Amino acid sequence: MQDYPRAVIDHSALRHNLAIVRRHAPNSRVWAVVKANGYGHGMAQVAAGLATADGLAVARVEEGVCLREAGIAKPILVLEGVLFKHELAAAHEHGLELALHRRGQVELLAETRLARPLRVWIKVDTGMHRLGVDPQRVPALLAELSANPGIEGPVGLMTHLANADDTEDGLTQLQCERLRALDSSGNYSLSIGNSAGILAFPASRTHWIRPGIMLYGASPLIGRTAGDLELRPVMTLQTRLIAVRSLRQGNAIGYGGTYVCPEDMPVGVAAIGYGDGYPRHAPVGTPVLVGGHRASLVGRVSMDMINIDLRGLPAATVGDTVTLWGEGLSVDVVAERAGTISYELLCSVTARVRKEHRSRTTTS
Ligand SMILES: *Cc1c(COP(=O)(O)O)cnc(C)c1O
Repeated sequence: MQDYPRAVIDHSALRHNLAIVRRHAPNSRVWAVVKANGYGHGMAQVAAGLATADGLAVARVEEGVCLREAGIAKPILVLEGVLFKHELAAAHEHGLELALHRRGQVELLAETRLARPLRVWIKVDTGMHRLGVDPQRVPALLAELSANPGIEGPVGLMTHLANADDTEDGLTQLQCERLRALDSSGNYSLSIGNSAGILAFPASRTHWIRPGIMLYGASPLIGRTAGDLELRPVMTLQTRLIAVRSLRQGNAIGYGGTYVCPEDMPVGVAAIGYGDGYPRHAPVGTPVLVGGHRASLVGRVSMDMINIDLRGLPAATVGDTVTLWGEGLSVDVVAERAGTISYELLCSVTARVRKEHRSRTTTS
C-alpha cells in the first residue's frame, strides 16, 4: 500500500497545545473546537485525543451527531445552532448544546416540546456583525428563555471576536466588555476567547473558552510564530520525490511554462498537488523540506504533482520524503506565501491523503 501523500497527526503535540491553552487560562473550561473535520485532522480522532478537554465545539448539528456516534459523551456545543425542526430534534436526541443567534431559533424552541431540557447559549453580536443578537435585546431573550421549561438554566452568553489576531486592535477589548456587561448579576456562564483571544486578551478568558487553531499548532496572532507561542504542529503533510530530472537552461517547467530554468539544474517532482489540498496558488519560492532540508517550489502546482528546485540538494534522490508543512516547516509560513491562512490549508487536505494518527512517547 502506498504510504504517500500522508498527513501524520501527532497526538502528543495536540495534548501539548491543550496544555498551553490551560496555562494561559487556568480557570476556564475548554470547548475544543473540532469543526470542519477537526480543522482537517480527523474530527473523531482529534476529539478522542483531546480526552481532557471539558467539551467539544462544532459548527453544525451533523458534526455533533457524528461525534456522539463515535462514542463521545462529553458536552458538545453547536456554534451555528439549528435552522429546521428536524435539526433541533437531532440535537435534542443527542444531547447537544445549542448557540441561539436569532429570535427564530428561540421561537422554534418554544414551539417544540422537549422530553428533557436542552442547554443553550445566546450568541451575542458584540461587534463582529456576523451572527448574534444585539446586546440590548439579550435581557428580554433571557426572560423568555427562563420561562421555557425545555431550557436548562442558567443560559450561557457567548460572543465571537472579529479582530483578536491583531493585538493592537481596540475592538477586542470592547467586545469583551460588552459581553461581560450583560452579566452584571454574575449568574450566567460566559464564553468569549478563541485562540487569539486566549493568548493575547485576558478579558476573553471567561468561564468557557473556545480554542481552535492553537490546538492544532498554528499561530492565531499576526507577527507571532507558533514557535514563539510554544505551540507544536499537529499535522505534518508529507509525500515523496517520484522523479529527479536534470533540466537544461531555458527549459520551461509545467503548465504554462511559467518557470524557465536560469541554468542547467536538478528538479525534483513530488507526488502532491491541489487534488490533495496543497494550495494551487503557492508561488515559486514556497519552501518545502526534502529529506529534512529546505528547498523551494518552481513552476505551477498541478493536481497531483509539484516541482522542486534541487540546486541546493545534490544528494536528493527518488523516494526521498518531502514535507509540505508541519514538523520543521510551519504551516503559517506556507500559508503566508500562498496568500491564505493556516486554517484554510489544514481544512483543505483532501480524503485521498492518508491520515496516520500517532502518539509519540515524548513528553513536554
Ligand atoms: C471557529 C470558531 C472558534 C475557534 O477559533 P480559532 O481562531 O480557531 O481559535 C471559536 N468560536 C467560534 C464561534 C468559532 O466559529
